[in-house]
Amino acid sequence: MIGIRDDDTLPAYTHDPFYQRILRTIAYSLQHPKATDPNGTRNPYFSLGRFIDSYIHSRGNNIAKSQFNAFCIVETEEKTIPDHYGHSSAASRVRRKPTEAEKKMDRLYRRALVFPTLNGSNPHEESLEERPVEQCAENIALPYILKAAIQFLANNEQGNRVISVYSLSMSTAKEPIAFCLNCRRHATDLVRKTLGLRIVDRAHVIYQSDATYALWASDQQGDFSSNSNA
Ligand SMILES: [Zn+2]
Repeated sequence: MIGIRDDDTLPAYTHDPFYQRILRTIAYSLQHPKATDPNGTRNPYFSLGRFIDSYIHSRGNNIAKSQFNAFCIVETEEKTIPDHYGHSSAASRVRRKPTEAEKKMDRLYRRALVFPTLNGSNPHEESLEERPVEQCAENIALPYILKAAIQFLANNEQGNRVISVYSLSMSTAKEPIAFCLNCRRHATDLVRKTLGLRIVDRAHVIYQSDATYALWASDQQGDFSSNSNA
């Protein structure tokens, strides 16, 4: 776990909750690039559970003090692509509410990841939920892995490779959370544009184009079924 606490033990010039939160997520991802469970098995439920445990531990083992409602791990089977972790924006119910400046920084950081061509401007798409489009835990974890996955596909000149990007989000109680409507739209758009890209929401459904599904199916042995909806 990352041994940084949200208290006053840090020098004032580093005591910026926004940077601590973001650095903590990235540092955790760097520290656990391809985690396994105690049996040596890749198990995203275990890995994400451990991330949540580490975060709750940093809040004095008090779940009620969690600033975040959702946590996420995004991973692939490719050995060269490390796992990435994320969390949602700070919940409004917490005692120490984020300042306007912190909220703005958080929004800009998430926008820069999810909409890299907008230079921090407002996304042109309306939110399909009551919350802003950038708020989800997936918005931290997914872009890093998608970038690597799209590069992986671009490196394959024959255009016949498939890569599956697996996303799992859970609450502080470790209940799986399916993609919200904004994340579903985002995943559907991406797989339509990217031959070979499959996005698997472990709590719900697989996003893939018909052409990608045909490529994937021709690679498989045995009887597999898919919930293609893109
Ligand atoms: Zn979402």
